[in-house]
Amino acid sequence: MKGIETMNSKIFASLAVSAVVLLGSARSHALCSRIANPYQFDSFYGALWGCKQELVNDMWYRFAFEAADWPGTYGYNDPCNDSTPLKRTFNAMQLLGYAMTASPTCSTSSSNVGMWAYCWAGNSIDEVYPGCEANEPRAHTSYGPFVDAYTKLFFSFFYDEDVIQRAGTLFHEARHAQGWCDHTDSCADGPDSCDPNWGSGCVGAGSSSGLGANGYTVLYMNWFATTARSNWINPTIRASAVAEGNYYLSHRFGTDPCFRLNAAGFPVTTC
Ligand SMILES: [Zn+2]
Repeated sequence: MKGIETMNSKIFASLAVSAVVLLGSARSHALCSRIANPYQFDSFYGALWGCKQELVNDMWYRFAFEAADWPGTYGYNDPCNDSTPLKRTFNAMQLLGYAMTASPTCSTSSSNVGMWAYCWAGNSIDEVYPGCEANEPRAHTSYGPFVDAYTKLFFSFFYDEDVIQRAGTLFHEARHAQGWCDHTDSCADGPDSCDPNWGSGCVGAGSSSGLGANGYTVLYMNWFATTARSNWINPTIRASAVAEGNYYLSHRFGTDPCFRLNAAGFPVTTC
């Protein structure tokens, strides 16, 4: 655990719960549906939280969902079907909330992000809605003064990412929404996807200081892999979390952070 705490100790100066959830307006959509990939863990997590109405209601409020944004195959009328974008979003939000604790909190005082990731993400993201345009990234967050703030989730979020990757993406987008944290252009994944470095990765006009959005993805994978409750993880899911964290460490930083996650999810120095 010592390794993790060392890694996490760099980030918390700038964390703060902010923003009131606001309602946005309905938007038009292209159809978006695909048969669920059985290896993306949706049935595993769907069974754990049971699509309970009170949990749906809580997500609906915190993330400012609107019925008109999720029509037809997006899932508003079929919200407990793991093949719909809406349910696949719910599954990831439940992972944010309950993978590491049965009692998530809004206090960000714990270094274990799993204690507060759900409430903090809900408070940080102004509203969430889907799109299925081709050739889009996993997600996009609009933020800043005098703009309509939102987080839009795309096809690859729903169907190319497994539940743990989706949870990491929501946590990542929440960092943009809360701290702005523009991406830079110089890293393996190229333009507009990079944090310049690990400890000071939140850059751009008006951005807060500290760990950038890519760092938040890594942080979530680190804490999830090492502290998830036993019934919320298995070896295959842990391996996915470790792979996701290491992908970001290898592809999304201008300066190599010089650590990777080992198979158990703990950071190990690499340079
Ligand atoms: Zn980003």
